[in-house]
Amino acid sequence: MPLAANPRDFDGYLLDLDGTLYLGPDLIPGADRALASLRARGARVVFLSNKPIATRRSYARKLTALGIPAAEKDVVNSNLALTRYLSREHRGARLGVIGEQPLLDDLLGAGFEVVDDPVQVDVLVVSWDRQFNYEKLCFGHDALRAGARFVATNPDRVCPMPEGVMLPDCASMVGALEGATGRRVEVWAGKPSRLMGEMALERLGLPAERCAMVGDRLDTDMVLARNNGLASILVLTGCTDRAALAASEQKPDFVLESVAELG
Ligand SMILES: [Mg+2]
Repeated sequence: MPLAANPRDFDGYLLDLDGTLYLGPDLIPGADRALASLRARGARVVFLSNKPIATRRSYARKLTALGIPAAEKDVVNSNLALTRYLSREHRGARLGVIGEQPLLDDLLGAGFEVVDDPVQVDVLVVSWDRQFNYEKLCFGHDALRAGARFVATNPDRVCPMPEGVMLPDCASMVGALEGATGRRVEVWAGKPSRLMGEMALERLGLPAERCAMVGDRLDTDMVLARNNGLASILVLTGCTDRAALAASEQKPDFVLESVAELG
């Protein structure tokens, strides 16, 4: 049960980005004022993204440019959560990576060796890769058949908004490899995992019961709240409308038309 009776009264907020604070290139009207108001009241905020093809620094810059000052350390994404998981559970492992440069940079930055020979792969890391092709499918297949562990960044599909276009992303690459090998991915590091929630709470320095997750998705943001003991605040500016909410088993603690209502 959430500690606060009012969604404005939490001490910490985990905030989703696309669909919550902005829609594509555009700020959600009033999101900047709401964040300024939360901060002025002493609340701490951290920003969460499941999109593995951009860096945390680029999100911090985008938020700042939209009027929500943010530093790189204020952003937790699925690449960082996966890197943290591997550092904790598979230190020194040789990695095979199907993914893009921001993920590779995080893994190399954490000291991991990335190898091209599938039989040398201790852990196969699969993410959204817009250069995915048959050669990469074979690489992943061979690594998994040779016994590599199998981990991935984010389980959610790209939400078809605001352009209305659905893109094949990380889950599609994982599906191809699962189909090819009969193996199942062992760990998803992004939302709604506990890994992601733990990292965000560490960043806030607050216990879960004093914090709320604010997001537009039921299957990631609201499930992350439940998985991590956080209050859940759904906003209706992104993926989820009232019909989808009514049809879902997920019942957020609070439903707001927009994050602007937190101001
Ligand atoms: Mg979102």
